[in-house]
Amino acid sequence: MSNILKVENLHKSFISNAEKLCILDGVNLEISAGERIAIIGQSGSGKSTFLQIAGLLDTPTGGDVFIEGHSCGAMKDSEKTQIRSNTFGFVYQNNHLLRDFTALENVLMPAQIQGKITNEHTARATHLLEVVGLKDRMKHFPSELSGGEQQRVAIARALMNKPKLLLADEPTGNLDPATALEVSHLFNDLVERENMALLLVTHNEELAKSLDKTYHMKNGVLS
Ligand code: ADP
Ligand code: MG
Repeated sequence: MSNILKVENLHKSFISNAEKLCILDGVNLEISAGERIAIIGQSGSGKSTFLQIAGLLDTPTGGDVFIEGHSCGAMKDSEKTQIRSNTFGFVYQNNHLLRDFTALENVLMPAQIQGKITNEHTARATHLLEVVGLKDRMKHFPSELSGGEQQRVAIARALMNKPKLLLADEPTGNLDPATALEVSHLFNDLVERENMALLLVTHNEELAKSLDKTYHMKNGVLS
């Protein structure tokens, strides 16, 4: 069985004011099914850039990303979009909920993007919102929910399409410590229950310790 995600010798550099900024300098990583990995690193160390590339939302300047053994380097955008919606779930620090849609509609969005919403989709979205403790808030708009509640909606949305790999970029970074702890436990339980792999960027050492492996991002490499 191949890995869900493998990155090989990833490089990313930007040209800024005629100077070359090297952000990723040969990153290697493999994640197998159900494996949960944390990445810790200082602000500006390239964690988000790495996650964006691993999630096929950005392209590397060198190296390659393999999803279930398939090289993504030469793939067309349409293929990448397909893989993204079939394989990945994303959770960001800012929840990126759509303001004009209810909690339930936001959770249904990944299914909507793939096609028509069925009764099964609605049942799953409803179930996920129940699991994250928002049973009575399904018809509420993001502006009517607290930061922690909005992030729970974002987590439910990320799980909607049963992704094999969840990519999470400081998902509790904008929450107060107590809420962050609550949301991170919930998050962990859900990932474990649904047997998903997880690549999580976090500043929370406790949370990182509860996962299978921790890597540190420093000077453009993971170790
Ligand atoms: P982290 O998530 O670890 O805080 P980022 O991946 O967001 O770090 O950013 C890493 C570095 O790359 C930062 O110094 C940032 O300024 C730089 N960077 C990110 N995107 C760009 C860009 N489009 N152009 C130039 N520099 C960028
Ligand atoms: Mg970041």
